[in-house]
Amino acid sequence: MGLAELLAPAQPRLFIGGGWCDAADGATFDTRDPAHDDCVLADVARGGALDIDAAVTAARAAWPAWAATAPADRSACLRRLADAVEAAAETLATIEVLDNGKSLTLARAEVAGCVAYLHYYAGAADKIQGETVPLGDGYLDYVQREPLGVSAHIVPWNAPLSMLCRSLAPALAAGNTAVVKPAEQTPLSALKLAQVLADAGLPNGVFNVVTGFGSEAGAALAAHAGIDSITFTGSVATGRAVLRAAAEHVKPVVVELGGKSPQLVFADAGLEQVAREVVKGIFTNSGQYCDAGSRLLVEQSVAEPLCERVVGIARELSVGPGLDAPDLGPLVSREHFERVCGYMTLARQEGARALIGGAPLDRPGCFVPPTIYADVSPAMRIYREEIFGPVLTVTPFADEDEALALANDCDYGLAAGVFTADIDRALRLASRIEAGYIMVNEYFAGGIGAPFGGCKLSGYSRERGLVALENYTRTRNVVIRWKTDR
Ligand code: NAD
Repeated sequence: MGLAELLAPAQPRLFIGGGWCDAADGATFDTRDPAHDDCVLADVARGGALDIDAAVTAARAAWPAWAATAPADRSACLRRLADAVEAAAETLATIEVLDNGKSLTLARAEVAGCVAYLHYYAGAADKIQGETVPLGDGYLDYVQREPLGVSAHIVPWNAPLSMLCRSLAPALAAGNTAVVKPAEQTPLSALKLAQVLADAGLPNGVFNVVTGFGSEAGAALAAHAGIDSITFTGSVATGRAVLRAAAEHVKPVVVELGGKSPQLVFADAGLEQVAREVVKGIFTNSGQYCDAGSRLLVEQSVAEPLCERVVGIARELSVGPGLDAPDLGPLVSREHFERVCGYMTLARQEGARALIGGAPLDRPGCFVPPTIYADVSPAMRIYREEIFGPVLTVTPFADEDEALALANDCDYGLAAGVFTADIDRALRLASRIEAGYIMVNEYFAGGIGAPFGGCKLSGYSRERGLVALENYTRTRNVVIRWKTDR
């Protein structure tokens, strides 16, 4: 089935107020399949400031009715949306694969995650409760949580639908409407989602999508005076720009930024199992996850046997077009491919030793094989900078103190994996590693209920879990003086 049929009746245009339209100036841009990036997949509307304004206006108009919908009815609506996404899962996953390159296996899992986000927050929609504050006789003080209004969602390309649903589901559940700006590399799945949600009965204007470039549509959305919150997931540089833009109108910003997460392996961990976790932690999604475990820190005494096992497993991984459901698909775009290849050149210059990989595959498309570098020290840029590709660095440590120092010697603080049979050590490290999300003995462990987010340059916000509802609600306190005598 071709892309147009997969998308239909959605169109590669803007989705505003429940209908499809061209950009105000008629501009378009092309999006490509990174497995065959000489071919254009679709010409997509290139939204700008005027289109963002129209989308915010539509979301604002839809807001009072959506906010006034009884929470139990909003909950029921979100469940219908979840069912509709589930019914369209194969189409959504296939569109994601074509646009992003990721393996079909992974795309299916990510769409299943979107369904789960919608169900989770459907369940929460009628449980956003307030409280009373004891001020003494004669006073009633109650605190209630209310929706913010129009929520803006600026989405990255690495897990487009999943990142969108992560913030969209709690925003809608709490009674907000949404304007979404997908990444220019991967605009298509959000457009299909818009159609699926509309067909499932989401009222017009509650969900709007403006495709386009970050410097145009993205910047216009972040700077718009008519929005009430921004959820930004992406790079540190763009995160700073969004925070600056939001400061002008004093809007709250959820910022989920990059990472350079360590995987700490101690000699007492079962190496066979750990090797599989390490491989999963870095090579899933071709290393294009913000919480990819890209720095392997390993106790000196087991560095060699662990590396042998990791390399052995990595060598067996398949690399190919996402529709063939390989272990690794291509990188998302030619531009990103060049960037990752640049880090491979840098690795050679910095004196790192490639245990496997180290050069792109000699075939058309943006394919980079699993790559592992040994002899990597914290002074090297490949140790410190987020490469966002299938590239693992290996650095040995002598003891727990050195392991902790290496883990924390980083500007980022998103996630960390700790592999050890010693529960005391696991708990010590879990409380001392500078990161927001720690996983012990299983990489990517967790679920929607587990709050996710970082510290340091990775950002300060938390998504997932009930705590994420706070991103989309504000507190109102009402204090009443009542007469105690008659
Ligand atoms: P990016 O910052 O280049 O782009 C992200 C989004 O911002 C895109 O939609 C883009 O169009 C938009 N944008 C660009 N310039 C803008 C501007 N001036 N104003 C407003 N919007 C603008 O990031 P990317 O390359 O798409 O994503 C990769 C990055 O995202 C990595 O650093 C990764 O670690 C991070 N990420 C973080 C998380 C998390 O939860 N912490 C999750 C996924 C990805």
